[in-house]
Amino acid sequence: MNHSVLDMPGRDAPIFAPEAFRLGEEEAALIDKARRFGARVLAPRAAQHDRDATFPIENFRDMHPEGLLRICVPKQHGGLGASFRTYCLAAAELGRYCGATALSWNMHVCSTLWTGALSDDLEMSAEERAEHNARRPAHYRRIVENGAIYSQPFSEGGAAAAGAAAFGTEAKPVDGGFLVSGKKIFASLSGAADYYGILCTERGEGEQASRRNTLYLAVPANAPGVSVVGDWDPLGMRGTVSRTLLMKDVFVPESELLMPHGVYFRAATSWPHMFLTLSPTYMGLAQAAYDFTVAYLRGEVPGTPPVKRRMFPTKQIAVAEMRVMLEQTKALWFQAVSEARANPTKEQVLRAYAAQHTVMENANALAAKAIRTCGGQAMLKNLPLERIYRDSRCGSLMLPWTAEICLDRLGKETLYEPGEKDE
Ligand SMILES: Cc1cc2nc3c(=O)[nH]c(=O)nc-3n(C[C@H](O)[C@H](O)[C@H](O)COP(=O)(O)OP(=O)(O)OC[C@H]3O[C@@H](n4cnc5c(N)ncnc54)[C@H](O)[C@@H]3O)c2cc1C
Repeated sequence: MNHSVLDMPGRDAPIFAPEAFRLGEEEAALIDKARRFGARVLAPRAAQHDRDATFPIENFRDMHPEGLLRICVPKQHGGLGASFRTYCLAAAELGRYCGATALSWNMHVCSTLWTGALSDDLEMSAEERAEHNARRPAHYRRIVENGAIYSQPFSEGGAAAAGAAAFGTEAKPVDGGFLVSGKKIFASLSGAADYYGILCTERGEGEQASRRNTLYLAVPANAPGVSVVGDWDPLGMRGTVSRTLLMKDVFVPESELLMPHGVYFRAATSWPHMFLTLSPTYMGLAQAAYDFTVAYLRGEVPGTPPVKRRMFPTKQIAVAEMRVMLEQTKALWFQAVSEARANPTKEQVLRAYAAQHTVMENANALAAKAIRTCGGQAMLKNLPLERIYRDSRCGSLMLPWTAEICLDRLGKETLYEPGEKDE
């Protein structure tokens, strides 16, 4: 039998206790499934993949029978039909045990969340809706029946991923589909995904590139013209294997459209919380840094001598400060993920930026404080804390909502109403 930290009294309680946060029964059960899966399956494998910078493909294979690959596939298509919030809370539980798996899982799940619950919430014409409903079952079937894995490379190293320009990766319309060419950097799951959910600009001969013509296309990993290049030896999130993806005149049939023409642009502008989906992993890492500190100071970390350090007042104050920071982070983030919807108010959007910034910065601040508080022995590589520290460092670099961009928008959008200018 596989024992996990969940078998120890008082350890690794749900990050968001169902009663305290008034979660629904079905929602709580799904999140609990993720928590148990994380502790039982992800935690024991995380160190090895981090050390070797290899993709944890067996975690994804094990997610299939658990239903976790189809968590956001709508119920009528054989999925679990999780809402945006339910997904976020489940992902935080996975991030607690393996940041790299949770972050990669996010890329996969977004292909179903964006085409599922989020699209259902978007305004579409009757033709667009019919087209979308006719195309998406094929994508869901691959996931539900065969455990197919989708990824989501949109970063290109230019202004496009921040939403400031059209994607440089282009789709040229041809008979029956598109010829896709371009380059994506930091393509998590590169070499492991079955389909790359590519954001690219549809551009016919002589047309100007425009963000309005962004296409969201599933490019089969084995299509001629697709290649993965470059090394992968980063500071953190090493298991995501985010190498460079090249596409050269890749023929992609029209049936691989994940959203009808023009709908991605509408989603990005009217459902902005879709860009908050990178944060749950880091909410989990923040909780993990705190949990580790408490267990370590109590002398209860498995594999370490039962030395207690909790009697020193400096440690008690540090834990108290960590708790304050964690509670602040949880409260703001829970509010933001709970109020995600189409056409949110200005206040809700500003709160989402604040939540993203807070989670991404505080996860690393908590990990740094955990190392200082626990001491030198706690940052040896046989314990998870130093991995949590490195993994959490990368959160605030994630486009389109990096910590810097969140601050930039928060300041500007607070002080200026849309269209307002200074003379
Ligand atoms: C482990 C890991 C996994 C990743 N996985 C994926 C993935 O699966 N898919 C994917 O698409 N991307 C992924 N990324 C990429 C990530 O989202 C960023 O695109 C990437 O880290 C940015 O690289 P850069 O710092 O070179 O960007 P640059 O574009 O050079 O930006 C540097 C900084 O400048 C600021 N900046 C950039 N543009 C603007 C602007 N318009 N306005 C104001 N400030 C701006 C930002 O704060 C940014 O951090 C991953 C990154 C990491 C570290």
